[in-house]
Amino acid sequence: MTTKQRFGAGIWHFATYVDRYATDGYGPPRSLLEMIDLAGQVDDLSVVDINFPFPGGTVSLAEIDAALARNKLSVIGITPEIYTRQFAKGAFTNPDPGIRRLANDLCNEAAQVVRHFGADYVKLWPGQDGWDYPFQVDHKALWTHSIEGVAELAAQNPDLKFVIEYKPREPRVHMSYDSVARTLLGIERMGVPNVGILLDFGHALYGGESPADAAQLAIDHGRLFGMDVNDNMRGWDDDMIAGSVHPIELFEFFWTLRKNGWEGVWQLDQFPFREDCVAAANSAIGFLKRIEAALDRLDVEALRAAQARQDAVEALNLARKALFGD
Ligand code: FE
Ligand code: FE
Repeated sequence: MTTKQRFGAGIWHFATYVDRYATDGYGPPRSLLEMIDLAGQVDDLSVVDINFPFPGGTVSLAEIDAALARNKLSVIGITPEIYTRQFAKGAFTNPDPGIRRLANDLCNEAAQVVRHFGADYVKLWPGQDGWDYPFQVDHKALWTHSIEGVAELAAQNPDLKFVIEYKPREPRVHMSYDSVARTLLGIERMGVPNVGILLDFGHALYGGESPADAAQLAIDHGRLFGMDVNDNMRGWDDDMIAGSVHPIELFEFFWTLRKNGWEGVWQLDQFPFREDCVAAANSAIGFLKRIEAALDRLDVEALRAAQARQDAVEALNLARKALFGD
């Protein structure tokens, strides 16, 4: 299937994983260069998002540059690991100011790596910024630190973009940036132009949002800077193959991007624990290409007319016809 769309993936898609049971991992560890070579085997993958510090052992920027070049890949974003053990009680919101400083330093180092690769943004996923128990935190202080930590980075690096990937929970029982509305409120409070949202379709789904509605809200506020897709059973961040469980909602999400003229990379954030990682990426991108073709087939005028009447049956029929055929 031909495509105009550019596709990307988090490099962790090509890693191996541990969980609380398989603590020795679902496969032998891989180096970053091995992960990049696997990413290069995926059809139609153009960009990757890379964790920092670089995963999988010591590696030089020159080696990464060479691996990316031989696989015709470039870097869209760098994700500083502000969610590892030393940040167990938060990065931007840690009660220890020394740890908050460490988080700031790590993100500034990641900013340098973004400049090296000519990437689009530093991706902030503050997974440890939040709380677990009632009465554990002072909510005002926590939210203030959440906002000030990101605002400080934005001011230190006015030439770069920062994206916040919100998520309801995990590893903390409740994350500080938990939803599209709360994240937008925080960004509005920062009052800076270079902070936006990276909307993860699966996080919106299991947070009880409509991903299409979340995308529209972020776009209306001029803050949809990036997105990634996957799927889940709506109770947890399962990071399954995009389109495997919620194809219609995925289609509505991409229709929302299309009708707003949002043009960016369609990225995979999947964790193929037991699957072949290259096959899982190809499966997802294969379905995303079907979505792209279905967007071209969608009878937009009829859909707008149906929505103007809130005619659910007609709107759904039009969407299904475009996506699945007659
Ligand atoms: Fe994600
Ligand atoms: Fe996730």
